[in-house]
Amino acid sequence: MALLDTAWVRACAQEVGFELCGFAAAQPLEGAFLWQWLGEGLGEGMPWLEETAALRLDIGRLLPGLRTVVVLGCGYYHPTPSSPTCKVARYARSRDYHKTFRGWLKRLMGRLREAHPGMAMRAFVDSGPVMEKVWAAKAGLGFVGKNGCLICRGQGSWLLLATLLLSEEADAYGEEEKAGCGACRACIEACPTGAILEGKRVDARRCLSFHSIESRGPWPEVLRRQAGGWLFGCDVCQEVCPYNRKAPVGHEAFAPRAFAFWPVERFLRLGGEEKAALLGSPLMRSKFWGLRRNAAYILGASKAASARPLLLQRRGELLKGAEGLGAAEGEEAAGEEGLEGAEGVEEEALEWALQEVEE
Ligand code: SF4
Ligand code: SF4
Repeated sequence: MALLDTAWVRACAQEVGFELCGFAAAQPLEGAFLWQWLGEGLGEGMPWLEETAALRLDIGRLLPGLRTVVVLGCGYYHPTPSSPTCKVARYARSRDYHKTFRGWLKRLMGRLREAHPGMAMRAFVDSGPVMEKVWAAKAGLGFVGKNGCLICRGQGSWLLLATLLLSEEADAYGEEEKAGCGACRACIEACPTGAILEGKRVDARRCLSFHSIESRGPWPEVLRRQAGGWLFGCDVCQEVCPYNRKAPVGHEAFAPRAFAFWPVERFLRLGGEEKAALLGSPLMRSKFWGLRRNAAYILGASKAASARPLLLQRRGELLKGAEGLGAAEGEEAAGEEGLEGAEGVEEEALEWALQEVEE
């Protein structure tokens, strides 16, 4: 059987929008690091990681006859900074990349299917049990840094990744690159919460990205004070990375939208205009109530008495049930319906913020 022509696949990938395309031979992964990280409780709050760990290490179970893992990537760096008092991680300032990538993957898979009608394939964009960064390193696209990000020489770490599993063998595979951090500790020292530990381990329990995006509960109080204005995600460990000093400007699909520059007050208010602007953006991962929770923490940590009227207004609305969680618009907001405890979490955030601005 003819081997998969990697130069042709790469050309097709670039044609649909992906800047990076690497190939790794499918094989079970060494699991010691993942099991130790989970065993230490560093992924607490993300039970799905433990539930799918065995599958992550043996992705052959995701596609019968899997031979090749194609790792696709695209740069998203756009230099304009967010508001210093209300920061949104760079990857989240545009249309949701999952949607953009799914469109690109659909076109790419169509091309591959035409040329290889018998080939089985399956694509993942951050949603399946595939360790994209590990596979990207195996495919020779870069190395995983001490901050847990994939770092690509010449491109830096402002990269979004997707994987495509194929049942055919490729004509060439990338060579795994050894870690290139050397003695650098910039990200460890800059992390505002001390979440980056020795041994390339990131403690999700202390990471602002985890709490502001994934967590459905209240943040630990110490993190609310350390957040430094991050509303959604955190880029500190990438901002300081020397490999990002000359990061090229990313694809236009990831150019920032207006919401990335809103003042924090708009995220607490979240009227119809704001909600309409946020639908289809990565910020929906936090849900509207999660964004209001995060905004309340930022306002509380600011200690600004001027925030008090708005906090009181929002607390009044919440107590009156003027905007029930189920009233949020759009399919993407549906997850708010019946989300147990969400109102309590937001209310506690508002109470905490009100106390902070009074002190
Ligand atoms: S994202 Fe922010 S909080 Fe998390 S490890 Fe990096 S610098 Fe630390
Ligand atoms: S800041 Fe330094 S230690 Fe951290 S990922 Fe970048 S090169 Fe590695």
